[in-house]
Parts: sequence; structure tokens; C-alpha cells
Amino acid sequence: MNSINPLTGFKDPVLCRNLLDKIHAELGAPLSFMEVCGTHTVAIFQSGLRSLLPRDLTQVSGPGCPVCVTHEGEVAAFLELAKKDNVVIATFGDLMRVPGPRGRNLNIAQAEGARVEVVYSAFDALILAQKHPDSKVVFLGVGFETTAPTVAATIKAAAAQGIENLLLFSMHKLVPPALAALLTDPEVNVDSLILPGHVSTIIGLEPYRFIADQYGVPAVITGFEPLDILQALLLIMTQIKGKQPRVVNQYSRVVAEQGNPRAREIMSEVFEPSDALWRGLGRIPQSGLALQGEYARFDALRLLDVRVEELPPLPGCHCGEVLKGKVRPNECPLFGKACVPANPVGPCMVSTEGSCAAYYKYSL
Ligand code: SF4
Repeated sequence: MNSINPLTGFKDPVLCRNLLDKIHAELGAPLSFMEVCGTHTVAIFQSGLRSLLPRDLTQVSGPGCPVCVTHEGEVAAFLELAKKDNVVIATFGDLMRVPGPRGRNLNIAQAEGARVEVVYSAFDALILAQKHPDSKVVFLGVGFETTAPTVAATIKAAAAQGIENLLLFSMHKLVPPALAALLTDPEVNVDSLILPGHVSTIIGLEPYRFIADQYGVPAVITGFEPLDILQALLLIMTQIKGKQPRVVNQYSRVVAEQGNPRAREIMSEVFEPSDALWRGLGRIPQSGLALQGEYARFDALRLLDVRVEELPPLPGCHCGEVLKGKVRPNECPLFGKACVPANPVGPCMVSTEGSCAAYYKYSL
């Protein structure tokens, strides 16, 4: 049981209280909002906001945790890569425990003799490749537009320095195509979106315009302080009241209208958009990033002859539905029983940004 002081972490408790009072006073009808980003999921729980918001203001978690949206077939593929002779897998720590077919994961593979190294950045993988010139070092690239530019810069550096034994398994995903897929899905029912602050620092506002223009859904790019989130909710309520859905930038102290053009330039030099498999959302056109042109020679799947198959969901796991906001984590029959952070059945219980892990940590 975690006890939460609702005012912990509130930089300006008085202003927060005023905003909360305003939200309570002005919320006329039930309203749902999806927080697309896993960091928002955690921020809402950690701050205690969840218990302070009106009951009719429903929080729905979305597909914004990079480890969680990594498809079953991608997990199987990197476990396959780990079995190859003369291969060192370089990965962020979260992926070590993500279960693949028959409950296998990278921890188990490592215990059985696979060479797996936890790194803290793509550049660490480059250094690893320099240390192991006779091996292929495969970096497992997960993440959204936020992490892809540094991975692109690493591949460019490898090319420039002639380090040809660094390979990339690109599982990177793009947020706007996933949002389009969600908003088109008749089973997904959300009134508004809280958009990811970090991703928006790279892509800016333009790629989100379709959300309001085509789907009439209000959307607010939001920071991660409780004050940011409360302001965003009020901005959404104002739009709904005025019947004028728009994309609004609440996080303007960090997110520029145009995003970060230099980061996008590096990304588009190294990657091209490709179809990608998302856990729960399936194959979404042009929602992934594949190495292109001269950089295609760093593609781990191509070089090591491994394919990503469209595997079915893990037995009993409802992560797919959780990531679409169709099922709350605690509605999964395995939640808190067979599936706990120490023994996760699905990736949403593994990652610190996963909805199931957040529900488990803050609501049990
Ligand atoms: S509780 Fe576990 S099994 Fe259920 S959806 Fe979450 S991660 Fe998957």
C-alpha cells in the first residue's frame, strides 16, 4: 500500500488548489481524456492528482510507453538475435524483462549464455562495438521521436568512424500515425487527448493538427508538473465548452511551435518512415522508422537474417487493450495476481512508464 500526500511535488499548492476547484466547478458533463504518454501516466499517479480530480473526469491511458508498444513479434526477433553466434545485444534495462514467447526474456537468454549488455544510451553501444571489434553489437532501438534522433546521430557517427560492427534493430515508432489509428478505431472512445511533452519538443505542433481538424478532438501538449496537467485539463474543458477543438501548446516553455528541425533533419537523413507493428494496435502504415540509403547496411535484421513475425498476444495478457484505453490495468484478470512487477506477464507491468506498473505501485 502506498500512501500519497496529494500535495507532494506540487510547486504551487495554492494555484493547484485553485485550478482543481475550477475544474470541479466547471465540469458540466462526464469527460474522458487520454494521456498518450507513459510519463504523464506516472505523473498523474505520483502526484496524487488521480484521486483529486472529479469522478466524471475519466483518465484513460494510451500507447505512450515505448517498451509496452514493442510488438510480440519484435520481442521474439530480438530474442532470436541474442541466440546468434558472435552477437552482443546492447539494450536499455527495461527490455531485459519483457516477456516473449513461452515467457522467455533477455535475462533468461543471458543466463543461458547469450551476450547481453545493458546500456544507457545508443552511444554506449557504439563504444561497446569499438571494444568488441570481432563481434556484431546489436543495439535494440526502442522509443518514439524523442529517442530516434540520438540513435540516428549514433549511426551517423559509426558510419563516419568506419565502425561497421554496430548494428541497429530499429523498433522506433512515430506517435501521430498511432493517434490516427486510435481515433479511427470505433472501439476507442476518448473525448480529448493530453499530448506527450517530450515527443512534441521534436515534432512541434503541426503533425497533430489532424486530431482537431479531422476528428474534432481537443488536444493539449502538456508538461509533467501537476500544474501543467491541471492547466491542460482546463484548456480541454474550455475547448469543449466553446465547441472549438484545437491543438494547444500548454508546454510552450519547452516545446517550440516548429519542434526541433535539426533533430528531425538527422532522423530523416538516417531513417525513412516504414510500416510498423504495435502491440495492441497491429500494423500501422508509416508509423515506424527503417534505416535508409547508405545507412541500411547497419540494419541488424537484414544482416543477421531475422524476421519480425505477426505473433499473437501473450496468453492471458490484456496489454493490447490497456494500450488502447479499452481496459483498465486492474480489469485484467492477471493484474496483481499472476502479474506483478517482480514477475511481469506483459510489458505494461515491466516498464516504469507502463500503466499496469503505475496502477500497481500507486493504487493497490
Ligand atoms: S496486468 Fe499484466 S497481464 Fe494484465 S495487461 Fe497488465 S501487464 Fe498484461
